[in-house]
Amino acid sequence: AKEQGRGRYAFFDPQINARNQRVMKIKTGLNQALEKQELSLVYQPRVHSESRKVTGYEALLRWNSEELGSVSPAEFIPIAETTEVLGQMTAWLLHQVAQDLSHEVMRGKQVSINLSPRQFQTGNWAATLKATIEQYRLRPDQLCIEVTENALVENFQATAAQLEEMQALGVEVAIDDFGTGYSSLEYLKRLPIDYLKIDRSFVRDIETDADDRVIVETIIVLAHSLGLQVVAEGVETSAQAEFLQARGCDELQGYLFSAPRPLSEHGEQQVKI
Ligand code: C2E
Ligand code: CA
Ligand code: CA
Ligand code: CA
Repeated sequence: AKEQGRGRYAFFDPQINARNQRVMKIKTGLNQALEKQELSLVYQPRVHSESRKVTGYEALLRWNSEELGSVSPAEFIPIAETTEVLGQMTAWLLHQVAQDLSHEVMRGKQVSINLSPRQFQTGNWAATLKATIEQYRLRPDQLCIEVTENALVENFQATAAQLEEMQALGVEVAIDDFGTGYSSLEYLKRLPIDYLKIDRSFVRDIETDADDRVIVETIIVLAHSLGLQVVAEGVETSAQAEFLQARGCDELQGYLFSAPRPLSEHGEQQVKI
């Protein structure tokens, strides 16, 4: 085996080895996570930038693994994406969200759900949404689907077709992490989109970085001229909120208002103004 080439020695790099083991443990753990009821949902509110009233919540997955402790979705989602588990987790999430929508706190609010680019290759999520809406008698516009620009780059046909079906149902669509992907602006015109979410990397330094201010202002103008609404994510300071509000950003989301929390910890009083 040693003769197979020098490159193979890289395999014994202890750091890479530790990394591989972690990925393997996460894969194995994810396979049992649903059964063992280790998954939960947290909700982060989005607020109207002028009234600061809650308009909706983004649903975010949490995994508390028996073996690994709490694992961030930034770590486990990319791994789950390579297996069938993400589809099962998303189906679970959808039922959970549908049930939570009947909770008092959720009355008249929208819940946003994240779908990974690859999920548009492996399933028809428009059909799944339709079934869920019927089963739970939801108003379709109580649901919003967040997709990144990369879904459109990697898989334009399948993604566009499903987004169109979703819009026909009345479900809303947001482009997540806007400005960080590789897509052309042309699809904004061609696709049924309701919201652009400005990535938090542009919001973070808004107070100190003139370039970021220009980028954010430009995204807002672009979105509005195409008839789209804009949500800024990662809003942490009132200076950021004021800047975004003054520039006409429609909605704000971030730690300034609330961290993502379990539904039971949400109520109007929880939202700081
Ligand atoms: P995302 O969709 O961009 O979600 C926003 C992330 O920003 C969340 O991280 C949220 O907790 C965090 N965040 C919110 N406000 C602030 C803030 O003011 N400052 C900072 N620094 N961060 C803030 P989280 O929950 O760790 O999720 C990370 C990513 O994992 C998400 O990014 C999303 O891409 C993915 N993810 C989470 N849940 C799901 C899911 O159910 N399905 C899929 N496909 N992806 C998910
Ligand atoms: Ca999101
Ligand atoms: Ca985002
Ligand atoms: Ca982001």
